[in-house]
Amino acid sequence: MRKGTFLVIALVALTMVFIGLGPAPAEARTQFYTIGTGGVTGVYYPTGGAIARVVNKKKDEYGLRLTVESTGGSVYNINAIMSGDLDFGVVQSDRQYQAYNGAETSEWAGKPKKDLRALFAIHPESVTLAAGVDTGINTIQDLKGKRVNIGNPGSGQRQNSIDALSGAGIDYEKDLMAEGLKAAEAPGMLQDGRLDAFFYTVGHPSGAFKEATSGARKVKFIPIELPASFYEKFPYYAASVVPVVDNYPGAENKEDVPGFGVKATFVTSKKIPDKVAYAVVKEVFENFDEFKKLHPAYAVLTKENMLEGLSAPFHPGALKYYKEAGLMK
Ligand code: GLU
Repeated sequence: MRKGTFLVIALVALTMVFIGLGPAPAEARTQFYTIGTGGVTGVYYPTGGAIARVVNKKKDEYGLRLTVESTGGSVYNINAIMSGDLDFGVVQSDRQYQAYNGAETSEWAGKPKKDLRALFAIHPESVTLAAGVDTGINTIQDLKGKRVNIGNPGSGQRQNSIDALSGAGIDYEKDLMAEGLKAAEAPGMLQDGRLDAFFYTVGHPSGAFKEATSGARKVKFIPIELPASFYEKFPYYAASVVPVVDNYPGAENKEDVPGFGVKATFVTSKKIPDKVAYAVVKEVFENFDEFKKLHPAYAVLTKENMLEGLSAPFHPGALKYYKEAGLMK
């Protein structure tokens, strides 16, 4: 082929691709959206996987594909969604409330995240405390003077741990040695004797507490009992029971223990197109039975309770589906 002819053909082909007439590779038509989750031994990470699994079955129809990222947790996810680094995220209901409202007691005080949008609620999570049996810790008060992981900055649990301690009259900065480790690191550190106890706000069963209770060091779950004034001060917390017996046979406990809890919720930004939010919500709800089987923490889910416990406004794409499905008027 003469050089000139080749150049003309190449230019025509390039122009066709640019104006959308030429064959574009399949990937170019697929939009990728990322879900922020939590540590790999929590329940958020498999939850992101479960949502992606049901939605990605229709990836060609919708031209979208969800990917899952392990992150530092709720606070990180909210901030990354707001900055555009993530598209979707699993976040605690108390954190959703605080971020949307710019709650005084949170990192968003005076900086409400008004572009945050709710999609649905997922499994219940309990603020859960586990300790080495040899530490002599039997109540939250016994944490004084001990080395305790309260959670990494960016996690949902960090503020929950601080609130639980303050509810029990303990100042986390003065009365104990507080660590800021990621939830995935804490069980190994507890087993090694480098931690006496750790808090984690998580659904059950979780890989983290399985790991913590199946090593050589005997571990038990510690009841978190707080006065009524605690629940008056923090209306987004509710007393709960940590289902120890059914989930963690390696733990020393013979009975479940009291804790307090929140809900895992699924959120996005106002900036995500309606058709994307619609597709994600529709596929999760239309494949509800399959979705529910993907993690034992989802056993209590109903389509109705998945619309409860949210404080940011629903994304319009989600609302469209809920109305169509008769789940909302
Ligand atoms: N609740 C934790 C957080 O918000 C994450 C729990 C999990 O990954 O399952 O950071």
